[in-house]
Amino acid sequence: MPSEYWWRSLAFLALLASGSSGWGEEDFYNFSATSAYWPETAQTYTKGGTYHLELTESSAVTMTDVIKDFKVETIVLQPGGGIAFRRTDKDYYVFQVADGQASVGRWEASRYVPLQTVTAAASYHPSGPNLLEVDAQGNRFHCYLNGAPVMTVEDTALPTGEVGLYAGVGVHAAFDDYWIAIPQEHPIKEDLDRLIRERFGAAAPPQPEAVFEQNGIKVEVNHIYPLLVKPGDGSVRTLTGRAPDAELSRQYQSLLALELSRYPVSFIRNIGLRKIILTQNQKFDGVPIGGITFGELPQFRRRVEGAIYLDVWGEMNKSPFWSQKAINHELFHCADYKHGPQPNLSWILLNINGEGAPNWGRESFLNRKGNGVYVDALKGYLNTYSQENFMEDRAEIFAGLVFCPSRVLKKMQTDPIIAKKVEAIKSFVLAISPEMDEKFWARMAAMETK
Ligand SMILES: [Zn+2]
Repeated sequence: MPSEYWWRSLAFLALLASGSSGWGEEDFYNFSATSAYWPETAQTYTKGGTYHLELTESSAVTMTDVIKDFKVETIVLQPGGGIAFRRTDKDYYVFQVADGQASVGRWEASRYVPLQTVTAAASYHPSGPNLLEVDAQGNRFHCYLNGAPVMTVEDTALPTGEVGLYAGVGVHAAFDDYWIAIPQEHPIKEDLDRLIRERFGAAAPPQPEAVFEQNGIKVEVNHIYPLLVKPGDGSVRTLTGRAPDAELSRQYQSLLALELSRYPVSFIRNIGLRKIILTQNQKFDGVPIGGITFGELPQFRRRVEGAIYLDVWGEMNKSPFWSQKAINHELFHCADYKHGPQPNLSWILLNINGEGAPNWGRESFLNRKGNGVYVDALKGYLNTYSQENFMEDRAEIFAGLVFCPSRVLKKMQTDPIIAKKVEAIKSFVLAISPEMDEKFWARMAAMETK
């Protein structure tokens, strides 16, 4: 059952890729550079941030160990490319889209056995790109196209094998953003039950639907991916994800309601938050992200205002702790986009004049693994993630104050820059909602999970 698992990195992939990709122990590739993991030959090569297959004999390139269950995703840039899985030599399964059809078949030696073909969903992009995903559990292969389920195929012929990319013979296929993971049990249910007990004791926790409605928020679980984002500098960035597993989504909505119910309704209503989209395997340019607020890039702000995308159980949300922190962090972004000056010069000056290095323009987006962890020795900032830019710095101060105030208050004692930032954030949110006063902050302190 998908809900019994969370998805863990494949450490061995990272070992093979280290030194070239810079992804640490992550198990995804955005093909921005060649990697020791993907073969570089005349027919299989990295070029312009994508990976290309122009094969004549074998039509699959697979690299993993022999594995059984897994999830794999890739963006196929033109029709004719696909995912190869459970491969042993010339036998393997293929999931591909071409000519408006999505299909799964099995190659046996050099013979193709079609297993299932369906007309591609409305989300299909005839000339690409299309996000393909296979979620293989035992003999069942759940296949997704652009985030939506298209078919589940059952077959027993190939119980294990390697996983990788596929190109029809004679097809020049190109791929972007490849991601793979294997399952492991996760503890969200247990932790969630404990959190609810801590917060509400024997009393019934609030019903998620009631909390969402009270705050004027629509929660959605379906969205069409990939979302292509053009920041205006000529580049195209990609948000990918898919509809979350039903049980994980249900649990996460309880957690989300818990976090939202911290706040006065006037605050949530005044930050202009209208929609929360729950996703899974959420990535921005191939980098797993716990949450993203529309407005983080200027054209987002024009197109959709007040929408937060949250991963119910992503790479960055591996425990309720990180999920809770991400929710509060993104809520602040929403408030900041609506009410904060951009750029916030007084905040930037706080960093320049203080001991901390200025963070304006310091983008370390690709190096964010572990950088949400609080670093006591870092002057002026809670963690290195805060040094990405002033927006992240502000959101981290706020999320820390709400979610683990004792850590922030302790740091304030010896760090005057943090103390000034705390003061600035408190008066900023007080102007948005008069109920965000010292009584509110005292309540947050009382609520803190010890
Ligand atoms: Zn952020």
